Amino acid sequence: MKELDSNNLKSKINNVCSECGISANVLTCFAKFGAPPKKLAFDTSTFHKGKCDYCGETKMITEARDFFYPNFSLLKNHAQDIAQALKTQHTEIVEAVERLKIPPITGNSPAELIANEGVFRRNQALDDVLQAITQPTN
Ligand SMILES: [Zn+2]
Repeated sequence: MKELDSNNLKSKINNVCSECGISANVLTCFAKFGAPPKKLAFDTSTFHKGKCDYCGETKMITEARDFFYPNFSLLKNHAQDIAQALKTQHTEIVEAVERLKIPPITGNSPAELIANEGVFRRNQALDDVLQAITQPTN
């Protein structure tokens, strides 16, 4: 079976929901520039009902272009980052997981709230991992 690399994934994702598009845009900018995006999405998008190519849910979707063609593989890659971190020592794992966390985006527009939801979900998943790692085993 052919593995889904980031280029392959990018080319397969054309229509996405706001949640996936904005979250991927935020993660892409943090990965590239270490900062949140200046713009979370295009101001005008042509949304229509359909299946999101990333999450598979049927909801309002638009083109990946509206989120500046973000790297969607980053949405799932933190699991791989953690798996990589698990191969190292305990304190390094905790540090590595902490490094994967992202500060919340400032602002209260609908797009910014969606971005924060994505950031929150990612950080929460990382907290769960941290808790699992630091829990004493009896
Ligand atoms: Zn989606």
